[in-house]
Amino acid sequence: MRVIDGTHDPALTSWVESANRQGGDFPIQNLPFAVFRRSGSGEPLRCAVGIGDQVLDLALLGAAQPLEGLAARALAACAEPALNCLMALGSEAWRALRQGLSEILRSGSRHAAHAAGALVPQSDAEFALPARIGDYTDFYTSIQHATAVGRLFRPDQPLLPNYKWVPIAYHGRASSIGVSGQEVRRPYGQLKPTGAQEPQLAATSRLDYELEVGVFIGTGNPRGEPVSIGRAEEHVFGLCLLNDWSARDVQAWEYQPLGPFLAKNFATTISPWVVTFEALAPFRSPWSRPDADPQPLPYLDDPALRVLGAIDLELEVALETAAMRERGAPPQRLSRSNFRDSYWSIAQMVAHHTVNGCNLKPGDLLGSGTQSGPGSGEAGSLLELTDGGRRPLALESGEMRTFLADGDRVILRGWCARQGFARIGFGEAAGIVLPAA
Ligand code: MN
Repeated sequence: MRVIDGTHDPALTSWVESANRQGGDFPIQNLPFAVFRRSGSGEPLRCAVGIGDQVLDLALLGAAQPLEGLAARALAACAEPALNCLMALGSEAWRALRQGLSEILRSGSRHAAHAAGALVPQSDAEFALPARIGDYTDFYTSIQHATAVGRLFRPDQPLLPNYKWVPIAYHGRASSIGVSGQEVRRPYGQLKPTGAQEPQLAATSRLDYELEVGVFIGTGNPRGEPVSIGRAEEHVFGLCLLNDWSARDVQAWEYQPLGPFLAKNFATTISPWVVTFEALAPFRSPWSRPDADPQPLPYLDDPALRVLGAIDLELEVALETAAMRERGAPPQRLSRSNFRDSYWSIAQMVAHHTVNGCNLKPGDLLGSGTQSGPGSGEAGSLLELTDGGRRPLALESGEMRTFLADGDRVILRGWCARQGFARIGFGEAAGIVLPAA
């Protein structure tokens, strides 16, 4: 477990004035990492932290060697075009760097004059994927989502018997993961329309989003050496927002017996910002399992999990249609949920993923699976919101939606807020649907 320390003090302010605005995503208590360069510059990519409406260029900052010891080594790793080197250094280094950056950015810091020269407005920055993602695994940790989707695909047996025992996942595709702003061309696939005798190759007519949390692995494990649940969180660098675009008609036809394939691997969009586990320390919640359900096997259970294994992370998805954009109307929120309601925790995902000796590596990405909550309006996909496309959504613009239309822009947002602490946000993960080729 990461500890709450002086970097979380809600009274801290920054000499970067925009970081002190109430309700912003990037106060000094957050310090999320990203990889960027100036828009259109062709400059080398390098690492940064977000502060207010700026990014702090860590390669430029590091050139002046403002830190010492472990923090200096961690800062030096940030001159790289991806976070993998920093991720590989481990949680002591991450904490030391956070401490150092917090001191540099604090009101009254002696480094302010120099560090101000390393600021770039976020509006002038273009972002890249935060890490070289070697492997990507997508879990299925929301029991509400698993039950709702199961009901649509298998009315007789919505929740398969293994669900409450195994943190279910499939190995996804890393090559098609893109950063916020990604364009997603409507994919073709093999699908079998209701009532048709034979399948056909066609552009999907049931394109959907999935509201997920992405988990970046920091330090890996040697092959053959499982990570115990008690140490699992030490291996986690931080979280991002993740949209697992899905072609539901392709999925329905192809998913048995081996699970998702072409219905999912054409695009995945993540936020540019990785909010560290250090920053999330004040927003931990107990993880629990209903008494009537099977309790986790010992390798998936831990006293610390029961105390603070979950994360109180508010999530929402908004839709901006082409018509809204033309009219200058704001995106409309479609649903909201909280990662705290997840049936399986991050530590359980990591412990289960490695229990057979599978090796995780720095920069590997785990998806949480669609986060649908127990309440109405808490469904994390259109499949659930429209009851499998049977009940179209009436938008405030007067338009109707069952699944996504060309020109639709989907925006995921996330934030943590708790009494006595500064609110921190995840920015956004947005992507737009282009017509089929
Ligand atoms: Mn998914």
